[in-house]
Amino acid sequence: MRVRLIPAEHDYLNDVQDVPRAFVPFMEIDGDADNFLKWSCRYADGRFFCSIESDVFGNAEKSFAISDADVSVYKKYTKRFIKNFLYDFLAEKIGKKLPYGSLTGVRPTKLYYELSEKTDNPYEYLIDEFHVEPARAKIVRDCVKNQKGYKNSSDENVALFVNIPFCPTRCSYCSFISTEIGRVKKQIPLYTESLVEEIELSKELVKRAKKKVTSIYVGGGTPPALGAEYLDKVLSPLKEYNVEFTVEAGRPDVITDEITDVLLRNNVTRVSVNPQTFKQSTLDLIGRKHTVEDIYTAYDRVRGRFDVNMDLIAGLPEESFDDFAESIEKTLDLRPENITVHTLSLKRGSVLTLSGAVKEADGLIKDMGDFAIEKLYDAGYVPYYMYRQKNMADNLENVGYCLPKKQCVYNVDMMEESISVIGSGAGAMSKKISGNRIDRLSDPKGFREYVERTDTILRQKKEFFSF
Ligand code: SF4
Repeated sequence: MRVRLIPAEHDYLNDVQDVPRAFVPFMEIDGDADNFLKWSCRYADGRFFCSIESDVFGNAEKSFAISDADVSVYKKYTKRFIKNFLYDFLAEKIGKKLPYGSLTGVRPTKLYYELSEKTDNPYEYLIDEFHVEPARAKIVRDCVKNQKGYKNSSDENVALFVNIPFCPTRCSYCSFISTEIGRVKKQIPLYTESLVEEIELSKELVKRAKKKVTSIYVGGGTPPALGAEYLDKVLSPLKEYNVEFTVEAGRPDVITDEITDVLLRNNVTRVSVNPQTFKQSTLDLIGRKHTVEDIYTAYDRVRGRFDVNMDLIAGLPEESFDDFAESIEKTLDLRPENITVHTLSLKRGSVLTLSGAVKEADGLIKDMGDFAIEKLYDAGYVPYYMYRQKNMADNLENVGYCLPKKQCVYNVDMMEESISVIGSGAGAMSKKISGNRIDRLSDPKGFREYVERTDTILRQKKEFFSF
């Protein structure tokens, strides 16, 4: 669907457009389109007005009286009013409600924290004001509850992140900047050299600023794709911290005995072994190039030696409700410390999206998400972090669950943006957080550029992290 969006009087296009997009994934916004959707808000004669006009859906207007004393408050919340009004309007016209109502941001928990300071019952507020369905409001509430004691609260602490943008093969739903390792084997020594140099600088910055490292996350990509020798070079400068140290081992086929030894030797405490599904034909279809048996073998290698996270995805192509339910059951049988349930998010650049293999979801994925929530709660897991993305099937979410007291500190701090992060590696993002202010610095995404510009990157990083 191509549509012209016309925000009148107020420039809220970026935020408000996420509401129609949530109803119509991949809606094309085009200034020359014939169809249009226009919204506006105004205050006049003691009343606040919201109006919508559309050649497709018709027109609507809503107004309510407000006192002069409240005008500044209403102005502040104009964007929220427009989004809520537009949500109600489209829900009625399209005949469909969304699990998160008019909420469109990446971090619903951040909003919950904000609401907690203004209202006694943020859970009810999510339901009444934003039309979030109760099961989803509960997830948001419980994530916040389960972050207590894990979310960072001190400026003295920092997290370290290292990015390894290589994988054995490319999954068809992937839109990350990750290169198949087989194509670039010869460049790995140079990449590792630059990366270790940046990690050493990160350590120096931590020391100089007298900060304390509270968690480390090595992700990507699939870090073990580097092979044992180079993975060891990357991890060994980090082993001295003795803090929560996660390596996203990711693809089960790369978790060999040799790799496991490297992880143990370097004081890694947490790994991800990501099945995504336990259905072989789906694994083949999405280009994972490993077997279901590999998942069990990899899990046997790491269980009891590390805390383990396992990722699953609801909405993979050609998967039925039963397929997904079986993956949940099989994962629960293994009882890893963490289970992360993702909803397939179609990115414009992914092979799946380009091939059109996944059609618009129509409630099936929501049933899967509901099943996952019920099963994981029943099995004693609790949700502790969550985030949402654009174009998620059935407008759902990604939720990290854990067994009691097995929260991953890094995940909590990342999602809540509650700690500064010093990132290293191609595509890594550094964040400097002070109060409500967040400054960001991104390393070049391409690993070749990263290697060629290492000196400049290090110089910029020193300037950025003058703390
Ligand atoms: S393992 Fe992750 S980063 Fe690598 S190709 Fe698959 S989705 Fe992309």
